Amino acid sequence: MGHLLTSQSLQGRADRRPGLQLFALVLSLAASTGHSNAVAGEPPSPASGQEESAASPSGPCSETPAVEYPAEQLTRNQLKLLPAASEGPVPDVIGLMIPGRLYRESVQPYPGANAPAGPLDSLGFWILFVGDHGTQGGIVQAEWSLCSGKQTLETRQLGPESLKAREHPLIAEQNPELWSASHHLLLPGDLQADGVVYKVRWGGQEPASLTFHLPVERYEQKTALRLPLDEPARVEAGHLAVEHHRGEGSQWFALDLAGVDATTLAAVRTSDGLDNENFHGWGRNVVAPGSGTVVAARDGVPDNPRAGKGLDPKEHPELDDPVAGVAGNHVVIDHGNDEFSFLGHLQQGSIAVAVGDSVTQGQLVGLLGNSGNSSGPHLHYHLMACGQPFRCNGLPVRFEGVEIPYEGTFESYAPVRGTVLVPR
Ligand SMILES: [Zn+2]
Repeated sequence: MGHLLTSQSLQGRADRRPGLQLFALVLSLAASTGHSNAVAGEPPSPASGQEESAASPSGPCSETPAVEYPAEQLTRNQLKLLPAASEGPVPDVIGLMIPGRLYRESVQPYPGANAPAGPLDSLGFWILFVGDHGTQGGIVQAEWSLCSGKQTLETRQLGPESLKAREHPLIAEQNPELWSASHHLLLPGDLQADGVVYKVRWGGQEPASLTFHLPVERYEQKTALRLPLDEPARVEAGHLAVEHHRGEGSQWFALDLAGVDATTLAAVRTSDGLDNENFHGWGRNVVAPGSGTVVAARDGVPDNPRAGKGLDPKEHPELDDPVAGVAGNHVVIDHGNDEFSFLGHLQQGSIAVAVGDSVTQGQLVGLLGNSGNSSGPHLHYHLMACGQPFRCNGLPVRFEGVEIPYEGTFESYAPVRGTVLVPR
């Protein structure tokens, strides 16, 4: 359920290349069909071109210098890759990475889960090439290496079949101008991995390659955050692999939270209807997950009357703030430490705070709604590094005071799609 900020986010690219507008639409479509590869780590690739090597100080991590990415390249949250090295006649392509900065996200089990021992981190990223990647026989191989400084911890080569499996199906079908590969690694939490070297090879008569060395960080959340809802909620969409939030970097770690019946913790709807009133979450309190200052508070965006198609911003030019057409009524809280909470799709007329207000953790900011590009009543939440979506990186987030009511071994241990979160 729920697609928030997809088409807007890619506008910056559309400015440069007309064909990219289609991509924006493609990603919006992807919201409704998104499937996830879950936190399953990088599965072994099919036989073609696969190769692994043990830790070595002489692999790609030592051969390819890390490139510092200037801050201005992170605007619109789309990092234009600067190749660290190239070979051969490189085609006219634009390389992009989503998100603009690679963060390891802790998937440490929440209380109540019966999960494997030891901390784990997930690391997800998309590599996209726009333009003439079809020349010279196309991209025939990619290779990632996980680095600890100049030491290469692991290298994995991906042949055509493996790459095809990582391509977004709708992108492949509808926009041949784009080549994409999504990667989702699961790392032991104590693994000292601080970089990824990514190499793409073109085939044909004059083989060529581009290599990038991307820094990887483990983000330490600064703000103590609670669940922004008072009652149990189910994650209707998270941020695994190709889920729709992963179409844009500020939402890289976003969660769509739908209210569930407080007794069964199962039903999202009170009856079979699809009107907003048929949803348990509709009108529930949305509260500040952490203290701070309100830097955006938008009201007046009409509620979509029922679950289904969200509001199309193009049909509502009167919504002068383009974010509002997508995010609906929303509140952004500056936590005072370069962390900002974004709460979207709130009910029209329910916004209880104004720009400049100080809020305390747990204070009411609005009611759960269905405004903007929302496919049903739910709260979209994400933490980000600036006060405006699309303009900066999303940040990994972990709530305090939350339990996941599962008991089975290996059942959900992190807030992924389908997980119920219960405030304690
Ligand atoms: Zn969302």
